[in-house]
Amino acid sequence: MQPNRKIRLAVIGATGSVGRATLDICRRFRETFDVVAVAARTNAQGLFTLATEFQSRYAYLQTPSTETIQKFQEKDIELLAGDDGLSSIASLDCVDHVVFASSGTDAIVPLKHALLANKNVSLANKESIVAAGPWIMPLVRRPDQLRPIDSEHSAIWQCLRDEPAKGVRKILLTASGGPFREWSLERMRHITPSDALKHPVWAMGAKITVDSATLMNKGIECIEAMQLFNLSPPAVGALIHPKSLVHGIVEFTDATMKLLLSQADMRLPAAAAIAWPERLPLSESFPLDFCVPSPQEWALTFSEPDHDRFPCLRLAIQAVEMGEAYPPLLVGADQFAVGAFLEGRIPFLMISNIIERTMERFSGCAPKSIEDAIALISEGERISAEVYSATGG
Ligand code: NDP
Ligand code: MG
Repeated sequence: MQPNRKIRLAVIGATGSVGRATLDICRRFRETFDVVAVAARTNAQGLFTLATEFQSRYAYLQTPSTETIQKFQEKDIELLAGDDGLSSIASLDCVDHVVFASSGTDAIVPLKHALLANKNVSLANKESIVAAGPWIMPLVRRPDQLRPIDSEHSAIWQCLRDEPAKGVRKILLTASGGPFREWSLERMRHITPSDALKHPVWAMGAKITVDSATLMNKGIECIEAMQLFNLSPPAVGALIHPKSLVHGIVEFTDATMKLLLSQADMRLPAAAAIAWPERLPLSESFPLDFCVPSPQEWALTFSEPDHDRFPCLRLAIQAVEMGEAYPPLLVGADQFAVGAFLEGRIPFLMISNIIERTMERFSGCAPKSIEDAIALISEGERISAEVYSATGG
């Protein structure tokens, strides 16, 4: 961090769960961060409130109304729009660091532009790396130019600092197990969207909350980790850890491990990413004391995921093994299936079923470009819609 100059940030997905967590850190450390630009998809009022609070010079909405454009103009905020607008936000000259905290896959091309413009990037959006990692990762020019915000990846990233790659034997991502960790398969037949949206530990957006309940989130995170840390399937695993205190574990070749432990709050990995190489003074706000409330409360338990009740984790690993077309296909199929579940069109247990059948049906080629990878996400959505229709939906 340069001592006399604020870090000039663009926050994409500013109105969402991770975006707000990141902005909370910026609010606490106004002398360190200048939020130059904020972006959301449709939440004009939420974005306007944030843009005026942080006195941002730029904002982005996908298709703002004339009235909205005028409202931003009156406050001297330049409002960008359309597909290219998001890439423009990600490569503004007056921005040092872009935070990708948007949901979905619209961030892929802006992420590419941010890296090409040599910005530092903090990345929460996992879909973009899972679908387009083979084209995004080669654009990273400097160590730590790309910093993960996803808590497990932030943990691994922090544990790997100053560690030579050849000393790493395995990395393990922890999962709370979600709200249905102890439910029988019979009981799981009757899961409603409101059951699935009650996560025991994390407060997150709807899509990722359902992905956490199916364990697809952990599967997607395993693929994300393979891309970020250049590892292959046997070297990346997942462990159920209901307390969500340990976020990631690195096992080294000399039979030692490093674990990263913190409160389960996305403000912490967001702070680690945007402030690197500094550590912000947050210990009073997020205290860790092994004797409070009692040492027993700190007992750490880990178990293997149950692949029979939660097949999505296995499907994600299979997608990597099946070839480069399958991770983007899986992202598209999961987007469709989670949407259909949230709209009450399919039962919870059918999410994995639709994804599995989409992967079986696909017979296309491996992607040769980032555009092909993006097209495969749409293909995953299209095939899964067909699979759904075939069930009489
Ligand atoms: P939310 O649903 O809470 O928020 C999504 C945000 O993205 C909103 O600000 C939304 O704007 C914005 N957005 C969506 N599409 C676009 C677009 N095309 N252009 C600009 N902004 C857009 O999601 P989360 O915060 O939960 O998740 C965000 C990402 O981070 C996901 O990829 C998720 O997997 C990942 N993640 C989330 C974690 C969490 O704890 N929530 C943890 C780790 C990773 P609008 O409000 O207008 O719709
Ligand atoms: Mg995570």
